[in-house]
Amino acid sequence: MSKALITGASSGIGAIYADRLARRGHDLVLVARTADRLQAVADRITAETGRSVEIITADLGQADDLARVEQVLREDVAIDTLVNNAGFGSVMPLIASDVARMDEMVAINVTALMRLTYAAASGFAERGQGTIINISSIVAIGPEILNGVYGGTKAFVLAFTQSLQHELADKGVRVQAVLPGGTATEFWGIAGYGDYANSPQTMPAEAMVDAALAGLDMGEVVTIPPLQDGAMWDAYEAQRRTIARNLAHATPAPRYTAEPAPAA
Ligand code: NAP
Repeated sequence: MSKALITGASSGIGAIYADRLARRGHDLVLVARTADRLQAVADRITAETGRSVEIITADLGQADDLARVEQVLREDVAIDTLVNNAGFGSVMPLIASDVARMDEMVAINVTALMRLTYAAASGFAERGQGTIINISSIVAIGPEILNGVYGGTKAFVLAFTQSLQHELADKGVRVQAVLPGGTATEFWGIAGYGDYANSPQTMPAEAMVDAALAGLDMGEVVTIPPLQDGAMWDAYEAQRRTIARNLAHATPAPRYTAEPAPAA
């Protein structure tokens, strides 16, 4: 029996992943804070697909709640798919934003995602199979677009996923970072830019998730649904890898060791 645990499944992208993974034959464990919304998603999916759906009401910013979800990932060996989707953003410039709220953002977008991945990954590797889908964002490669802490959290998700791929691919574990662009969900209201959800530039959440799953089926490690020309990412990634292979030097580059020009 194959089971997927999805965080942030009470609305938006996470609720669509729940629907799509159930239709692909997974039973589900859905996690979020709002019990009645989670239950509504679970009831609809069970009615439409016949899959079994458990819900866990948890605030992933609270250590005890997060530990409960980690324990489920460690102990339920039927779980073979983890979708780390819960998260939130902000459009506020850094100096106008509340540092406590930024701290909460790091707790959900980074710490919870990292801890849940740890909880799942060793069992997946031992069993030689599993899939970890981490929801990043286009701001991972465009940190100037929105709030800088948000961009930083999503850059962490991208780098962490690339590192996991490096470590886990030969153990039968698949990992994928998904970088959505503007997607029509409640995200924008929570981030402080509600109208953007209705902008003609935002992608419906259904189309975003279907594209992300198509990328997973194609074996992509990084999937960017709104990027029209995939060759752009391939070139960017090839350049990053080239630079990364050229960084082991005991001496600084000559441009940093030249004698300063005499003052005019
Ligand atoms: P959303 O509709 O606001 O969904 C966010 C989900 O996360 C909800 O189910 C929410 O449920 C859950 N969540 C938030 N804080 C939580 C906490 N402390 N503990 C547990 N669950 C929590 O927004 P979305 O667009 O679907 O966002 C999903 C992911 O996509 C996020 O990681 C976001 O950064 C990313 N993303 C979104 C966009 C976009 O344009 N929408 C673009 C790029 C990336 P409860 O409130 O019930 O807890």
